[in-house]
Amino acid sequence: MNTTDAFVGLECIECGEIHDAETATHRCPDPECGGILDPTYDYDAIDLDRATLAARPFDSMWRYEELLPFTRESAVTMDEGATPLVECDNLADELGVDRVVFKDEGRNPTGTFKDRGQTVAITAAAHHGASDVALASAGNAGQAAAAYAGRADLEAHVFLPARAGFTMKAMTNVHGGDLTVVGGRIGDAGAAYDDAMAEHDDWYSVKTFVTPYRHEGKKTMYYEILEQLDWEIPDAIVYPTGGGVGIVGMYKAAQEFEQLGLVDGMPGFYAAQATGCQPIVEAFEGGLDRHNPVEYPDTICGGIEIPDPGASPWILEALRESGGGAVATDDEAILEAAIAVAKGEGLEMAPTCAAAASGAWELGDRGEFDDDDTVVILNTGTGNKDADVLRSHLMGKGI
Ligand SMILES: *Cc1c(COP(=O)(O)O)cnc(C)c1O
Ligand SMILES: [Zn+2]
Repeated sequence: MNTTDAFVGLECIECGEIHDAETATHRCPDPECGGILDPTYDYDAIDLDRATLAARPFDSMWRYEELLPFTRESAVTMDEGATPLVECDNLADELGVDRVVFKDEGRNPTGTFKDRGQTVAITAAAHHGASDVALASAGNAGQAAAAYAGRADLEAHVFLPARAGFTMKAMTNVHGGDLTVVGGRIGDAGAAYDDAMAEHDDWYSVKTFVTPYRHEGKKTMYYEILEQLDWEIPDAIVYPTGGGVGIVGMYKAAQEFEQLGLVDGMPGFYAAQATGCQPIVEAFEGGLDRHNPVEYPDTICGGIEIPDPGASPWILEALRESGGGAVATDDEAILEAAIAVAKGEGLEMAPTCAAAASGAWELGDRGEFDDDDTVVILNTGTGNKDADVLRSHLMGKGI
């Protein structure tokens, strides 16, 4: 495998054992454990300073190669990442803070930050000699996996719920993926995926927190944000949270930047959810260490309609240790936020992502921010993935 110099292996977040990434490919191989594996590095061997990073072109998330498991040269990549941080003065005024910036992940190859996870996960699959990859997804991850798998000449088996958006289904087909649409919701797609995995022991999973590499790719969002803010730690990062891959990735990245001596401290990480599916918000507010699964999830925000996020202890740690929080708003407020942002700032947010904007408003109303704060809102995906949903919301208002 073409691993990077400081990459040590995969550390189990449950039992602490470090496994060889050559042989351990997914969850902790200890049959008693089965915990999530997390790529780990010898940070003392990494020599990165601000000037070195500044001298590199801002061209791809792989510019942080030393902090990724695989070499850039061996990566299955389309130069994902390196997305802009867009200043939103109107929103800052409305929120009563100094600055609001949008990390616009809609500018990725398949229109969402899922590309950051799949570039690393599909690279791992290729390194491990896989011929087929598989996952269940709410939509965007499936589309991204199909795109990267096609590029690496792998077959992608994608299980999506019927309510996944048209674009995600259509583009999975267009990228040559083997698409299975399952009646129901994400849990039903997951069950169909489990059945298929049991029948095909040669399929390589690229599913959330089954592969150790998706949060690893998504962590690069944090590196970029810090560099783009000239190393000033923002006060808050508000993130539309489903499985929590991005938020734990960024929390990890924040710890890494501290460890490397690049910055001191970290922002408050805030999980934004929809009231129709808010297991993390409920666990946070209830002081729990783990979520209770939502029995009847129901929100228009498909990407965060995740009723049973298995990594909840890690997500909750990120919120608490960073001094952040959790907030939920309803679908109506979320759609209104997407439309307000599109109208007032020009930026296109899918409904799922607008949960972060709407959540930021709610946090502002609750007095969570100060007038000299910098607030980062993650726009995890582009609005045109769900243009129909946004347009029909206008229709519902007679527009
Ligand atoms: C998947 C997805 C999310 C949630 O991501 P997690 O990192 O799993 O919490 C948020 N927004 C969009 C657009 C998504 O596709
Ligand atoms: Zn373990």
